[in-house]
Amino acid sequence: MTKLRLYNTLSRAKEDFAPLDPARVRMYVCGPTVYDFAHIGNARPVIVFDVLFRLLRHLYGPAHVVYVRNVTDIDDKINARAAEIARGRNIDVETARAEITEATARQYAEDVSALGCLAPTHAPRATDYVGGMVAMIERLIAEGFAYAAEGHVLFEVAKKADYGKLAHRSVDEMIAGARVDVAPYKKSAMDFVLWKPSDDNTPGWPSPWGRGRPGWHIECSAMGEALLGETFDIHGGGIDLVFPHHENEVAQSESAHRGHALARVWLHNGFLNVEGEKMSKSLGNFVTINALLKDWPGEVLRFNMLRTHYRQPMDWTVAGMNESWKTLERWYAGSEPIADPHVGAEFLAALCDDLNTPQAIAELHKADDRARAGGLGLLGFSSVQERIAARPAIDAAAIADAIAARNAARKARDFREADRIRDELLAKGIALMDGPGGTSWDVKR
Ligand code: AMP
Ligand code: ZN
Repeated sequence: MTKLRLYNTLSRAKEDFAPLDPARVRMYVCGPTVYDFAHIGNARPVIVFDVLFRLLRHLYGPAHVVYVRNVTDIDDKINARAAEIARGRNIDVETARAEITEATARQYAEDVSALGCLAPTHAPRATDYVGGMVAMIERLIAEGFAYAAEGHVLFEVAKKADYGKLAHRSVDEMIAGARVDVAPYKKSAMDFVLWKPSDDNTPGWPSPWGRGRPGWHIECSAMGEALLGETFDIHGGGIDLVFPHHENEVAQSESAHRGHALARVWLHNGFLNVEGEKMSKSLGNFVTINALLKDWPGEVLRFNMLRTHYRQPMDWTVAGMNESWKTLERWYAGSEPIADPHVGAEFLAALCDDLNTPQAIAELHKADDRARAGGLGLLGFSSVQERIAARPAIDAAAIADAIAARNAARKARDFREADRIRDELLAKGIALMDGPGGTSWDVKR
């Protein structure tokens, strides 16, 4: 069997992967906070960890891999949105919270399925695990790792000697670098919230510390524990989650579990920028998966994402998307839909080398059969093939005639007619490029 090697954020090294129990390989990936459409940056971990899920299923058997991707449906950004809706429609805030999280989670599942991602084995919602969160917090208090103060419960970072081991930072560095809340009920600025009180206009659950809600980090610790046990094999998410989210998950879970590790391998995808800039609503380059799917086949999005290694930062560009579409078209042109379950040895070796998808794609370039990635479902889930089949064939001779007519019009200085011909072609998706060697054309999207 090809050996799987994964880069572990914890050890900062590529390691041989050996699951605790090969009959039940367990992976947890932090999922979306559901209050708005997911953006293309959010799509990156979904696609990357789908590739890992498929690879694990290939190596250990589909029945032997358990993949948990949670849905964060308790969160203060959600609450702020819910309060707005509740005011506008004169409904109570909990009803509004349930509505937006339900609708957003459904949309998310649809969007990522269009990117060819398998549904995870479990997609737990935080609201269904509040009991487990309260129980874990009670345990942390009983063991001396947490304290209650003014309706809050805080994790006492000073009680965890190796705090910072995942992020590879000392507590002093973290205090200097982080914008931490200095609240009067905290013993130290680094202590983080496990539970906080809710007022009447904020969703809340009963607890020994009064009506309130969990902090984000404890949500994942409790859902991981409930579905995967104390220690599991892989924990993943975007690089931005290493600190504080994952560091705090480690602190909570290890302290609640007599020091047993939360996860053995920590995997983090690099960040995605759009056209060279950090994505932000104010810059106007905030691209949702949903909007992209109106213009591009999901498979093109997926392929474009996988052309960059998951740990590298990625620049998402329209030019890159066009290249990706062209490559897939070339691969699929005139071929039967991919159905061959064969997985090439070099292709598999590349994926097993810390999910080296650029190398795996290079192997696909070399392959001259059309089986390519069929067996792993990396590609070939057919939306591109369907779109190619649906598109009328390009009549190259007619385009050549139109270019000749346009050149004749330009020679006669009839620029209006020349532009009309150019625009007519453009409306059909054919772009003309005038260069020193004459006029060439390309399919534009
Ligand atoms: P959130 O809903 O913001 O908690 O994010 C969900 C997932 O998307 C997390 O794993 C994040 O690390 C990841 N993520 C968010 N923004 C980006 C980005 N620009 N590039 C890559 N991953 C991202
Ligand atoms: Zn998490």
